[in-house]
Amino acid sequence: MEMDQLVALCRRRGFLFQSSEIYGGLQGFWDYGPMGVELKRNVREAWWRDMVTSQDNLDVSPGAPAAFEMTGLDCAIIMHPQVWKCSGHYDLFNDHLIDCRESKRRYRYDQVLGRWVEAKGKRIFVASDTSGEEALEQTQLKALKFFNLRAKKANELKWEGPLVPLTTVTDFDDVLGPDAKELGTLTEPREFNLMFETNTGAVRDENSRTFLRPETAQGIFVNFKNVLDSTRVKVPFGIAQIGKSFRNEITPRNFTFRSREFEQMEIEFFCRPDTSADWYEYWRDRRYRWYVELGLSSDRLRLREHDAEELSHYSCGTADIEYAFPFLSDGEFGELEGVAHRGDFDLRSHMEGKLIRQGDELVVEQDELGQPKYRGSGRDLTYFDDQTKERYTPHVIEPSAGADRATLAFLCEAYTEDEVPDEKGKPTKRVFLRLHPRLAPIKAAVFPLVKKDGMPEIAREIYKKLKPHFNVFYDEKGAVGRRYRRQDEVGTPLCITVDGQTLDDGTVTIRDRDTLKQWRVGKEDCTAEVQKWLSQ
Ligand code: ATP
Repeated sequence: MEMDQLVALCRRRGFLFQSSEIYGGLQGFWDYGPMGVELKRNVREAWWRDMVTSQDNLDVSPGAPAAFEMTGLDCAIIMHPQVWKCSGHYDLFNDHLIDCRESKRRYRYDQVLGRWVEAKGKRIFVASDTSGEEALEQTQLKALKFFNLRAKKANELKWEGPLVPLTTVTDFDDVLGPDAKELGTLTEPREFNLMFETNTGAVRDENSRTFLRPETAQGIFVNFKNVLDSTRVKVPFGIAQIGKSFRNEITPRNFTFRSREFEQMEIEFFCRPDTSADWYEYWRDRRYRWYVELGLSSDRLRLREHDAEELSHYSCGTADIEYAFPFLSDGEFGELEGVAHRGDFDLRSHMEGKLIRQGDELVVEQDELGQPKYRGSGRDLTYFDDQTKERYTPHVIEPSAGADRATLAFLCEAYTEDEVPDEKGKPTKRVFLRLHPRLAPIKAAVFPLVKKDGMPEIAREIYKKLKPHFNVFYDEKGAVGRRYRRQDEVGTPLCITVDGQTLDDGTVTIRDRDTLKQWRVGKEDCTAEVQKWLSQ
């Protein structure tokens, strides 16, 4: 499947639109249309149900080191600015960017690749902001143009080795930027913080500066004590949150894959330090299985353990769950979710500091400039185990997923083309979304075969019976074949048709989207049939 085909389908059938499209769009922002909103809701709901509400805390789940409880939170997007100083986002959440003086384009330093080439006695580095085959083609064309050579003289270009990152080049004077015609137009890399800033309150100054959260996780850490004090949870337990996050990405691209506003589905799982390695393995494997069970085929999905040198100093394991998105080159994978062993780093950072009394308030001790002397809150975020009488700072396992990336992967995987006979028996191309029934925006469509003989009345009755339980759709317009195709394109797993036989024996035809198999059930049994399909 070509990515363009999926993008076109998403637009045509109301899954995704560019944000503010009538004003020319805003890069890095997307709107989910009538079908998209249902699909993404189903992704979120599947995650929440599977990870949180259906977690049985009485018995040990398969593969888990012990029984555990899951609970949820929904935190504010704007938090106290000190949270981001403490988490490191304020000082360290930076990308390096480079500008092109000629094209005025901006690039992420670590994403620019290129190749060294020599021709006509000159050696230059030809850069590209794409990757794989596309980058090879782009650099070839740019080099031919730069050296003023025709395509048939391409053998005069002496390429040195494969594509390498621009970060390996020390002097930019010999670099031909991705969109430049002249050499040496790229600026030196500079740091750029990815957090969106805003101000809270009427006065806009340094003191009112706040940030849109770049991740949902910090809301969980700062509420750790509140959850412990307001519920009866005991370690080990997890807190889950789904919500919007914002990152001012330098180069948003690849449809919704890298957006500036996106939704995360994060869990912070708190456990005893001596059990954390086992819990890490449990969550890594369970999260991988979740994608497989919802239909991501195992050969495009992979679990990649980070090497020891990629790990943070406090971590004893991190794995990325990755998907081979069709917009990536062969062999390349994009991150869907990171599962990280974070040790006690986050709780410890938020704890750091000393509280002193200032008037009626307890505040973190300040330095001579009036700034907090420590990054943390000074509050006690340790846990007391009342059975073993031990006090400790729990370790944390963090499975952090993106709802938009998961939705995009499910869409990519679902896009299928096959050939089916049309009404006259001629083979015709069919496009359909092979979405898992739990994810499908519409669970079933109800049609009268023709708009007469009492068929619409019966079909409407069936529709009304189904509607309180499932998102179903009624359609009586046009040829039935066309109505089937429209449902196939949005991934509706079942179509229920009232036809001539219904008038005789009260049965209806049910058609399966994937196999096109048809069978009959009593019109009273439609609810049970759809339910059966959904719980498979
Ligand atoms: P990347 O390396 O692709 O920028 P990341 O490692 O910074 O991602 P995390 O900080 O681990 O991502 O965030 C957890 C999850 O949030 C990611 O696995 C991804 O699914 C999602 N996510 C992060 N950034 C974006 C974005 N710009 N657009 C859409 N989803 C995102």
